[in-house]
Amino acid sequence: MTQASTGFDPEAVRAKYLRERDKRLISGRAEIRDLDNDPEFGHYRRDPFTPWSERDTISNDVDVCILGGGIAGIALGVELRKAGVENIRFVDTAGGFGGTWYWNRYPGVMCDVESYIYLPMLEETGYIPKRRYAFGDEILEYLQSLATQFDLNRDALFHTSVKRASWDESAKRWIIETDRGDRFATRYYTIAPGILNLLKLPTIPGMAEFKGHSFHSARWDYEFTGGAPGEPLTKLKDKVVGMIGTGATGIQCVPALADGSKHLWIFQRTPSAIGARNNQATDSTFASNLKPGWQQERMDNFQAIMLGRPVEDDLTNDGWTHHYAKVQNPPARLPGESAADWFTRWEAVDYEIMQAHRSRVESTVGDTATAEILKPWYRYLCKRPCFHDEYLPSFNNDNVTLVDCPSGIDRVVEDGVIVDGKKIELDCIIYATGFEAEATPLYRRAGHDVIGTNGQTLADLWSGGASSLYGLMIRGLPNLFAMPGPAQQSVVTVNYTQLAVLGAEVVGRTIAQLLSKGGPTFEVSAAAEHDWNQKILASFADASALMAACTPSRINNEGHPESRNPLNGNYGRGFGDYFGYRELLNDWVAAGQFEGLELR
Ligand code: NDP
Repeated sequence: MTQASTGFDPEAVRAKYLRERDKRLISGRAEIRDLDNDPEFGHYRRDPFTPWSERDTISNDVDVCILGGGIAGIALGVELRKAGVENIRFVDTAGGFGGTWYWNRYPGVMCDVESYIYLPMLEETGYIPKRRYAFGDEILEYLQSLATQFDLNRDALFHTSVKRASWDESAKRWIIETDRGDRFATRYYTIAPGILNLLKLPTIPGMAEFKGHSFHSARWDYEFTGGAPGEPLTKLKDKVVGMIGTGATGIQCVPALADGSKHLWIFQRTPSAIGARNNQATDSTFASNLKPGWQQERMDNFQAIMLGRPVEDDLTNDGWTHHYAKVQNPPARLPGESAADWFTRWEAVDYEIMQAHRSRVESTVGDTATAEILKPWYRYLCKRPCFHDEYLPSFNNDNVTLVDCPSGIDRVVEDGVIVDGKKIELDCIIYATGFEAEATPLYRRAGHDVIGTNGQTLADLWSGGASSLYGLMIRGLPNLFAMPGPAQQSVVTVNYTQLAVLGAEVVGRTIAQLLSKGGPTFEVSAAAEHDWNQKILASFADASALMAACTPSRINNEGHPESRNPLNGNYGRGFGDYFGYRELLNDWVAAGQFEGLELR
């Protein structure tokens, strides 16, 4: 297939994509600081939002301990409360409920998944989001209101990190020890740390020498910048600010920083693909047109489109369903079509979408050289796509300069940074450099040793890759649940809430059933775990050749897709089969037989 029939020149585009990839495929690009053991930067994790207060240590036992008060933890708490489980204790390093929305309060923070499907339990609470895409403060307030409504605060330990969780076989309990000196037992333990709980800081030479102010976007320092989420930044008018990172976070920070700073330097390693946002206030007729079951239906509709299933209407109707779903689900192969021609036809769909993104840059950004640097040259799914309407126009401000540094910043010095041998003086550096996401194993994201039977840890048990029943329960760790997530033998959903709520329903109902039987100890049987692992392996599709052509990102393991472990895959190919997974789990709970578990 050639340029004439597809409207693009596949060879030329492939070559351009590879050239752009190679600029970024440099050794050490994925190196990060280990903030668990970093005397110079460990303080970046401190909570700037809620004052720390003294409290007595806790030693009374509970039925259920939940690590993490984000969406998954809250949803589980709600499920347990609904089932009449009273004796629940949350533990979270944060100063309150909200998870990722507790920590990420940077200016402009919003969720680019539609609010009507992202905010959990809307139908139950009767809450109608203010806008089609909610800002972070609304999400945080809503999550905290759920916690209040379902009485989850009662026994929650905030500003508290679990240091060690160990299974006590004689007591048939998990013993939880925290950094505040608490020590208590729980019958069932659930870990729900999420995938964005560990902020990520690069290892740029000289970082510690910087004498100006610096912080990570997930701990926004409003004391330094002035302002508040959704309000102008008031203290930067005389400050030259540098921001490193142009991912989903960085792009959201830029408009407020551009408005508020004397000068804003944006250091870009890889441009994101910035699709249209089209945010708008919720229509006054929206609520009155809703029918019972509307949120589930809307979530399922979105999910079906993302999985390439036929639907009558596209209820969300946005960049995810238009672009992401289209590229994620390649066109069917035509009768007699060669594999190469089919692949090129799929590439053409991708190219058209990426070309539209590049044209958007060109028509928005006045300076041609800046526009060129902002154009993303890779296939659409090589990086997480972004959606924004004010980011690109910010580059038309005289006080904003984009710095193209595909191989990163040379070094940080005491009054700025060096890029390509040239110094840029800065008063402040903001690291919008992301999180240790799903590629970081669950045992590290959990943040503590989880020690099961015979002293085996979660880290030992998963040293060769994930191993579980349904991605939720693990042999060797009795009475423990891990909430489902990517790289964990469950499925992936672009709308994370939908997976979190499913996990909460299944785990919550299972715990309630177990408690109603007197709270027996369960252990995943060797055969059941083996079967699930085999199912995960069987659905692994090796896309490493395709992914290797991508610009390096967390999606292709920073340029090394070949080292992805098939055991860390999903149930079903690609993202996984969400609907199949849900049916399987619902049937399993409904049967009430705990099939695959040994009860004692
Ligand atoms: P990302 O990992 O997406 O982006 C980090 C940025 O920092 C990238 O631009 C990266 O460059 C850059 N970077 C990292 N290290 C260096 C370095 N050494 N030198 C220069 N630049 C560097 O993090 P985000 O916080 O933006 O997003 C993380 C995830 O959070 C998203 O994928 C998404 O899942 C979630 N999120 C969701 C939002 C939503 O609306 N739903 C909003 C914000 C975040 P490079 O691209 O080259 O690696």
